[in-house]
Amino acid sequence: AAKNQGRNAWRYFTPALQIAAEHRSRTSSDLREALVRDQFHLVYQPIVELATGRIRKAEALIRWQHPQRGFISPAEFIPLAEETRLIREIGGWVFERAVEQVAAWQAAYGADFQISVNKSPLQFKGDEDWVGYLVGLGLSGHSIVVEITEGLLLDADEQVSNKLLAFRDAGIQVAIDDFGTGYSSLSYLKKFDIDYLKIDQSFVRNLAPDSSDLVLCEAIVTMAHRLGMQVIAEGVETREQRDLLSAAGCDFAQGYWFAKPLSVADFETMLAKVG
Ligand code: C2E
Ligand code: MG
Ligand code: MG
Ligand code: MG
Repeated sequence: AAKNQGRNAWRYFTPALQIAAEHRSRTSSDLREALVRDQFHLVYQPIVELATGRIRKAEALIRWQHPQRGFISPAEFIPLAEETRLIREIGGWVFERAVEQVAAWQAAYGADFQISVNKSPLQFKGDEDWVGYLVGLGLSGHSIVVEITEGLLLDADEQVSNKLLAFRDAGIQVAIDDFGTGYSSLSYLKKFDIDYLKIDQSFVRNLAPDSSDLVLCEAIVTMAHRLGMQVIAEGVETREQRDLLSAAGCDFAQGYWFAKPLSVADFETMLAKVG
């Protein structure tokens, strides 16, 4: 019977792998077209200052509306864009849209409004002049927060370090995304000038009084503040999570409790209501 099962498993295994490979190669050629055919757009998730309840920042998140397959999640296509190196062009597109949007929102809501943008490690390998693009539009570096992951800093070479230094000189802030999930080393926090730690949603999901997750959140906040950083909690879905994070001294939060990622129009409607 075992042999039979094995043979059956093999029979189903091979086509599944093949289908997955075909799916990936189709997706990557579709990705190439998506840029030209304008199938990407950005949505913006409010980031709320916990002490005041005000929205002073937004995270830009990419969306892909595929003409046949409908909505495809960035969790699916960003890794593929990284493998195929298309991430540089896509990332450039994201950055330019976000910068244009922050210019518009600063004009409406004040010069301290910020948009944060996710950047993959590969985007630090090119020679795009992000600082120049901002300055060219007459914006201050403070308009943009760049979200990076711990992995980038762990194998940071000269090119990465220089980009981060250029950010600092221009006033562009840096956030560590998904903090606490990547690597156990904290030594990079001494080496680089980081402005925000974003507590990953896996620490927020089961947050409860007396939970180990609460201890971890409190420890992250204490460490961050003592090192001169601020903390943004991700994936806040309930009032209780918000209250616990607020009591723990967390500075900012984002999540479905406040708002899902929104279109520009919906974001503006929300800001008009809550400020
Ligand atoms: P991320 O940067 O950690 O973004 C947070 C993700 O959590 C987003 O998923 C957001 O929609 C989702 N989220 C927000 N609030 C909640 C909540 O309360 N509960 C839950 N369960 N989820 C929440 P999204 O938009 O699907 O993006 C997934 C990931 O794709 C992002 O994770 C980021 O790593 C990547 N990504 C998105 N846009 C870009 C981009 O423009 N460039 C790059 N390089 N990566 C991007
Ligand atoms: Mg992010
Ligand atoms: Mg995150
Ligand atoms: Mg992430």
